[in-house]
Amino acid sequence: MSIDPARLLADLHALRGYGRDGNGVHRPTYSPQDVAAREWFAARARATGLDVTIDGIGNLLARDPNPGPHLLIGSHLETQPHGGWLDGALGCVAGLEVARALGARTGAGGIDVAAWADEEGHFGAFNGSRSAIGDLTEAEIDAASNRDGVTLRAALAAAGYAGRPRLRLDPARYKGYLELHIEQGPELDTAGQALGVVTAIVGLRGYRIRFEGQQNHAGTTPMRLRRDAGAALVRLACAIARDFPDAAAARTVWTIGRIELEPGAASIIPGAATMMFQMRDTDEAVLDRLESLLMRLAEQEGRGSCRVAVTRLRATAPATMDRGLCAALEAACERAAPGNWQAMPSGAGHDAQQLARVMKSAMLFVPSINGISHDTAEDTREEDLVRGVATLADAAAAILRQA
Ligand SMILES: [Zn+2]
Repeated sequence: MSIDPARLLADLHALRGYGRDGNGVHRPTYSPQDVAAREWFAARARATGLDVTIDGIGNLLARDPNPGPHLLIGSHLETQPHGGWLDGALGCVAGLEVARALGARTGAGGIDVAAWADEEGHFGAFNGSRSAIGDLTEAEIDAASNRDGVTLRAALAAAGYAGRPRLRLDPARYKGYLELHIEQGPELDTAGQALGVVTAIVGLRGYRIRFEGQQNHAGTTPMRLRRDAGAALVRLACAIARDFPDAAAARTVWTIGRIELEPGAASIIPGAATMMFQMRDTDEAVLDRLESLLMRLAEQEGRGSCRVAVTRLRATAPATMDRGLCAALEAACERAAPGNWQAMPSGAGHDAQQLARVMKSAMLFVPSINGISHDTAEDTREEDLVRGVATLADAAAAILRQA
């Protein structure tokens, strides 16, 4: 059993042609280039002998027809706007290459390959993988739209997927789910490591924090009489910077991604001020603790002069990867790159966190050059791409062999 590096790289470069944008790719979910990429991928999977379905949300599932235990390998085909060529694409093509490499072997079982629709969240959060595990309602589909105001229903109709049934995974068919992905961060590249086995995927909480005070004249209003919503917001930002490091865990990250002052003019005391705040960690207890701290600090910094409302907009739970599948990946890493791999959490969200809710799941990372992703400059050395897929195939074969 071995992969074909030339075939793998040729497929990755062919896929890069759908929406190519300089070194990167612009392939938003359900765009003509995304639909064409799905059709191309379906044809490649059929040529491998897999039974391919593209369903009513745009999920592509390529099933191995052999009886026996199966492994599911997948990722996503669409990209961020003006994004990189490997984010998602690598995991899909890797699944195809592993299916081809293992397809020749004798014995029962095989590899199913999935391309989950809209992992990049143009129309929501993990719509494709959530649909496949039965966690996406028709009402959610009715309500969803992208940032250009195009509804998900209209986009599905334009893509030709409207009206098709949505497939639902049968977890009993699978020994588990594997996903190969670029790291999208600097850790492996900086440490000179060839591979990373993901221990857990971070959970994310996102908030809108809004202070309301009194809009007034910036020249005539004495400082002691002001109810300055902007000043309260800045005090909160400082309090977060002061108090979060002691309350956080070693790898917790938090971000104030957006600040708005209303009306936002040099000579007007802001009557309202809003910030978008986000934090991520692999431990739900840490997120709970930080949420309580955030609420306390927001109350404290608005007290006396401003009302404050903290609204939780997003919450995804951390996902722990399956210990047994991780052990198989670790053993394959040690064979491929002795002493030159590491275990690590994923700071980015992935479809694997959804699949982990219904079956054993694990992820393998390859380095991102300079840690760059969600940008056309995103890249990974060819030797790392090939090693990553070969390691995935090695681990997949071992898992399928296990009783
Ligand atoms: Zn991705």
